[in-house]
Amino acid sequence: MVEVGRDHLRAEVVGVERLSPRVVRITFGGPELAGFGGGGAPDEWFRLVVPPSTGRGGAAEPDGVDPRRRAEEVGRWYTVRRWDADAALLTVDLVLHGRGVAASWAGSAAVGDTAWVGQPRGAYVPPPPGVPVVLAGDLTSLPALTRIVASLPGTTPTRVLVEVGGADDEQPLDGPADLEVSWLRNPRFGRAESLLPAALRELLPGRSDPRTCRYWMAGEATAARLVRHHLRHELRVPDGHHHAVGYWRLDGEEWNRRFAESGIDIGAIWNAGQRTGRTQEEIVDDIHARLVEAGL
Ligand SMILES: Cc1cc2nc3c(=O)[nH]c(=O)nc-3n(C[C@H](O)[C@H](O)[C@H](O)COP(=O)(O)OP(=O)(O)OC[C@H]3O[C@@H](n4cnc5c(N)ncnc54)[C@H](O)[C@@H]3O)c2cc1C
Repeated sequence: MVEVGRDHLRAEVVGVERLSPRVVRITFGGPELAGFGGGGAPDEWFRLVVPPSTGRGGAAEPDGVDPRRRAEEVGRWYTVRRWDADAALLTVDLVLHGRGVAASWAGSAAVGDTAWVGQPRGAYVPPPPGVPVVLAGDLTSLPALTRIVASLPGTTPTRVLVEVGGADDEQPLDGPADLEVSWLRNPRFGRAESLLPAALRELLPGRSDPRTCRYWMAGEATAARLVRHHLRHELRVPDGHHHAVGYWRLDGEEWNRRFAESGIDIGAIWNAGQRTGRTQEEIVDDIHARLVEAGL
């Protein structure tokens, strides 16, 4: 067990708002949150540690162990939807996907409950002035998308694709003057393959020169891999101009079982790639190829 608790701050639930049947907005406060370092890159994320299963309001697990000592095991990544430094309030939008420690906790969270938050970090690189941006994501990355769009210079031509469960998940996005947002409604969101890779394929050929754009995508892990592959190999978008990241995995337990059976050793692929002088992006390609070969 890895103990990483010391930098985790105790956070009290001070607000709960159901944004849609699939998303709950939780606001955290409390004295320790004054030490939270939010307000950085617009995709900034942090580790949220919640008491397991029935832990409503719990400061400790039934065995008396402070859950923050188990952050590595029970912690989950979430995006800072809003950080109000003056009031020391942290707002997070959590998808209620029906399984998992965090989603289950979020589904019944109430004012007065306790959780723990790690320090945030972000990675989004803003585009050079005037360069068009294509952003894609789903409900889990809508908090980051919203903040990224709001952070862009007013002159950035911006195209956004968001996969949601239904019209009730849609939220207004404010950003550059030239902003076009498409909502992909997927009634089977979270239970079936993501619509984003196919939707991006349809969208991109329509652009004058897709290679000049900057791309950011986050969502289901296999979808992110497919999007990255499409951007890098079919559209030949230069490295550093595209960033696709898996935020969650569809049917993770089954995928993990099949991955274990495949015998693929990601560490060994990295080491072999580094030894033979392949770039990081080329090594990611090698891993993708092995996963595709194994039907993963
Ligand atoms: C950088 C980053 C930022 C993120 N920001 C957010 C955010 O702001 N809001 C948000 O809701 N999520 C966000 N996520 C995704 C979130 O971390 C995962 O969905 C996480 O798995 C949820 O934990 P859990 O305990 O509910 O489920 P887990 O215990 O991790 O998973 C249980 C099972 O549920 C399934 N599952 C997990 N997530 C989903 C899902 N979203 N839909 C359908 N099935 C799922 C998987 O099959 C998994 O095997 C982010 C992830 C990353 C990496």
